[in-house]
Amino acid sequence: MIDQNLVKAGLSGNIIREIAEYGAEQAKIVGEDHVYNFTIGSPSIDPPACVFETMNRLRASMPAWQLHTYAPLIGLPEARDKTAKYLRKTFGLPYQMQDIIITCGTSTCLAVLTRVLLSGGGRAMTFTPYFMDYKYYAEAFGDGLTECQTDPDTFQLDLEAAEQALTPDTMMLILNSPNNPSGVVLKREGLEALAKLLERKQIEYGHPIYIVADEPYRELVYDGQEVVFLPSIYKNTIYCYSFSKSMSLPGERVGFMAFPPDLDDYMDIYSASVAAIRSFGYICVSNMWQRITVECLGTTSDISIYKKNRDLLYNSLTEMGYSCVYPDGAFYLFMKTPDPDAEAFCRRAMKDLLLVVPGDSFGTPGYVRLAYCVSRDVIERSLPIFRKLAEEYGIAK
Ligand code: PLP
Repeated sequence: MIDQNLVKAGLSGNIIREIAEYGAEQAKIVGEDHVYNFTIGSPSIDPPACVFETMNRLRASMPAWQLHTYAPLIGLPEARDKTAKYLRKTFGLPYQMQDIIITCGTSTCLAVLTRVLLSGGGRAMTFTPYFMDYKYYAEAFGDGLTECQTDPDTFQLDLEAAEQALTPDTMMLILNSPNNPSGVVLKREGLEALAKLLERKQIEYGHPIYIVADEPYRELVYDGQEVVFLPSIYKNTIYCYSFSKSMSLPGERVGFMAFPPDLDDYMDIYSASVAAIRSFGYICVSNMWQRITVECLGTTSDISIYKKNRDLLYNSLTEMGYSCVYPDGAFYLFMKTPDPDAEAFCRRAMKDLLLVVPGDSFGTPGYVRLAYCVSRDVIERSLPIFRKLAEEYGIAK
């Protein structure tokens, strides 16, 4: 029997891709220069120089067959070892090679961990606004996703709301900072209070509650804000990282997950994760790209470009009359729509080939997400359209 829930999920599509595809079609008709596409969070700047230097060195020093052969199911031992050393040195926690699994980005981590932690029954919880795929995984493998509201003015954690949202069937909490879609970086104070709350709830419910720290944007912060390393404040945290954004390598599909040695039920979770990776077929991440990325750990693309984009877009839009929570990180701006129906605003903007994504897809109606990992030129040329819309909706300053 074909799983009808999967059929339904497949047919429901992905609004971001739909709008982006519309943009691609329009670009063929009117030309790239006349489409202002802020839909996809795919970096538009080059990877760090280390990536190409390492690639050239590997090509010159290894036989091609060896560089392109299958890697072990959960990663090359040397890649896992270098990752563990990097985490030890950077964050001071005692990770060892055996605690690391190399994955196809954090998407693999999220799919695998929701399956492992929820398929025996249980729910995931996350804070709004959130990356839409969380819901998809939690519904596919568990009893669903609880969406907990954050402070509406800052998108920082609301501890009272969190306490009310937690239930005995909450098995995992997915945290994402810097955040897609808001760009907000969660503050230490709120996270430490959350850690205390979870410790209390674990005792009350009689089972562990795991934090899954989804951190593909860790290095993308612009004014020196602290990005708290969650495993250092809450023991039951599985840390998930990706090279897709910080190194501009989304198509190469490399990331990792790190299990702290003192994680509750470590062996069960680790073994089940290996089996889940195998059952999904997310095996043997590219041998060459594992070598390159771990060699370049700690380097990033030139993120000052994103900072300039952030400043230009945030300052221009707020001066025009729009309101947005100040984005400290990632490469997204979450803007309040002058029409409470964000999808209607998106459709209106589409008529002028300004492509943005409704916040409803991220559990937060009344907003749109703008991915500003685009060229500065696109931002500059889009501003008159934003102004025209502000005037049309009567919010222009
Ligand atoms: N998590 C968040 C918050 C994201 O924004 C994305 C991609 O946009 C992912 C996970 C998945 O990224 P990847 O699988 O490329 O690491």
